[in-house]
Amino acid sequence: MIRRPWLYAATAATCLAGWSTAATAAPLPASNPFAAESTLPYHAPRFDLIKDTDYQPALEQGMAEQAEEMERIANSSEPATFENTISAMERSGRLLDRTLETFSGVYSANTNPVLDKVQEVVGPKLSAHEDSIFLNPKLFARIQYLHARKDTLGLNAEQKQVLDVYYQNFVQAGAQLSDDDKAKLRDLNTRLSKLETVFQQKLLAGTKASALVVSDKARLAGLDAAAITAAQTAATERKLDGKWLLPLQNTTQQPTMETLTDRETRQALFEQSWTRVEKGGDGDTRDTIATIAQLRAQKAALFGYKNYAAYVLADQMAKTPEAVHSFIAQIVPALAAEQKREAADIQKTITKSGASFELKPWDWPYYAAQVRKARLNFDENQVKPYFELNTVLQDGVFFAANSLYGVTFKRRTDIPTYNPDVMVFEVFDKDGSELGLIYFDYFQRDNKNGGAWMSNFVGQSALLGTKPVVYNVANFTKPAQGEPALISFDDVTTMFHEFGHALHGLFAKQTYPIISGTSVARDFVEFPSQFNEHWALNAPVLAHYARHYKTGAPMPENLVALLKKAATFNQGYRLGEVVSAAELDMDWHSLGADAPKQDVDVFEKSALSKMGLETDMVPPRYRSSYFLHIWSNGYSAGYYAYLWTEMLDDDTFAWFEKNGGLTRKNGDRFRDMILSRGHTQDYGPMFRAFYGKDPDIGPMLTFRGLNGSKN
Ligand SMILES: [Zn+2]
Repeated sequence: MIRRPWLYAATAATCLAGWSTAATAAPLPASNPFAAESTLPYHAPRFDLIKDTDYQPALEQGMAEQAEEMERIANSSEPATFENTISAMERSGRLLDRTLETFSGVYSANTNPVLDKVQEVVGPKLSAHEDSIFLNPKLFARIQYLHARKDTLGLNAEQKQVLDVYYQNFVQAGAQLSDDDKAKLRDLNTRLSKLETVFQQKLLAGTKASALVVSDKARLAGLDAAAITAAQTAATERKLDGKWLLPLQNTTQQPTMETLTDRETRQALFEQSWTRVEKGGDGDTRDTIATIAQLRAQKAALFGYKNYAAYVLADQMAKTPEAVHSFIAQIVPALAAEQKREAADIQKTITKSGASFELKPWDWPYYAAQVRKARLNFDENQVKPYFELNTVLQDGVFFAANSLYGVTFKRRTDIPTYNPDVMVFEVFDKDGSELGLIYFDYFQRDNKNGGAWMSNFVGQSALLGTKPVVYNVANFTKPAQGEPALISFDDVTTMFHEFGHALHGLFAKQTYPIISGTSVARDFVEFPSQFNEHWALNAPVLAHYARHYKTGAPMPENLVALLKKAATFNQGYRLGEVVSAAELDMDWHSLGADAPKQDVDVFEKSALSKMGLETDMVPPRYRSSYFLHIWSNGYSAGYYAYLWTEMLDDDTFAWFEKNGGLTRKNGDRFRDMILSRGHTQDYGPMFRAFYGKDPDIGPMLTFRGLNGSKN
């Protein structure tokens, strides 16, 4: 997953702000670390100086400054030129950018009540600020003037693309609406921004509060000693001495569900997860999301779209909801068949164990692990000793990047961080030149959003003279003091995934921030990250990093073979939970503006039951009520993008395999034609230029083991 500093349709990091009514804000005192550009290498954030109370004044002053800059551009008496309009807008908002990028990173990964309050206060103001830019008729008139003369202005290819993107972003944001509709839009955007923040805060609180607390250690049977110690520590941290606590991950299923032998514990954990924010009262998100869905439908109608999905998809690679539905429809038949096979296998295993109950979702991961063990004689714990986090990072993730792209890494302990768990590395290009910085924040904390993501503290731009400063965040279980972090293969995959985003950010070589690096459509942005996951199991890469943490011995051949087989195991479930989440997302955003406010439970049940998949046993990866991606994280009508980009990345990896695999030649080509290009081209042509054809779903079904060649 990737997270952008802000979530607006424009996705323009530099064009995020502009709050005209803030023009009265006083200049920032020089003591505020955001007042001047950071003097650290790569303008890295001054986490050694920043206090929680520095953000709000800097954000407000940043909006005021950008609003003034935008007013100057809009009111200029000179005729519009690319330089005095587009480049000027790209240069605007420096204070706001550097503050917001830092704030977003810390708010998502290390929040506290002060930062929560800043988000609550500033979120709607940012939304209004952005509106004041996009809905400024004089600004739009200048852009429209330039856009109409695009081919006669002597622009280079990147500038033409930037002009197109600006024009489309303004239109998507409402620049062509009547004054009446613009007022309606401003109101809708403000209300949506508030509700999205409310949703996020309810979810964080509800997820924390719904952790499973166990008083009897016997109920944790099946967990290994380290997990039990971690559960005990987690309980102690919440002053629940003598108990054990299993914090919830953001997904429906929890990683411990595979090993917990006590069925009642599993059911309790599942129900805690499934109802985490459906407990009634103030923390319940159902009314919030039903309202968000309704307001989004109204917003789409203002633009003349039949629903919010159509509005959102207009500038994506897929382009229409119909294209997404037909893509999902290509997956369903093979997937449904696979789910039925898996369910039958699992039910047999349950019956064979002497039990008489019917398979429920809280049984699936546990018994699937049993089936896998019986069939492959494999469980995750066998491989964990070979996946020590730092070794995986340096000898796996970095090694693959070095082999493909020639880049090298050096730990920087002198760069300040927002939490002692965060590690910083400097990245050097193949010729030894400085490429950027990357921060890794891998361990779970209660004040961190769930899941894993990448974003920038500083975006790359030749215009601004900035090199990328990126970060990867995840939620791996933190080992006890002094113990090594032995992670699951899922976690290993997450590291490769987020690092794929990081490479997309680090290899950016654009002039203009608006199309730099990962500033691409959602159904393209997961392509580099998911592509990078493939290297985790690639023979030379795996051999290099999968070494026993005590002995240094390589992973035995038979275990490697089992790990690879296990990767295509249980795909009916694993793909199924993503496909049904994607469908839920599309359905919520296919409501028309005239649809009444939905009963969330009824809506969800009907959306899931019509798919033709075993959704009773294979619940969606995120339920509507805790689907952060779609309610407050910029993936509304966009969750399908993970699957769409899987088609792109599997097809691309198949190309690599046909062309010699892990080589500098292949890596350099991919970097040149995809990873370094940001949004300088449309996505279809970019893919075709690399591959010579359109993407094909075949390799995806093969990698998932769904094409009949199942082991
Ligand atoms: Zn991603």
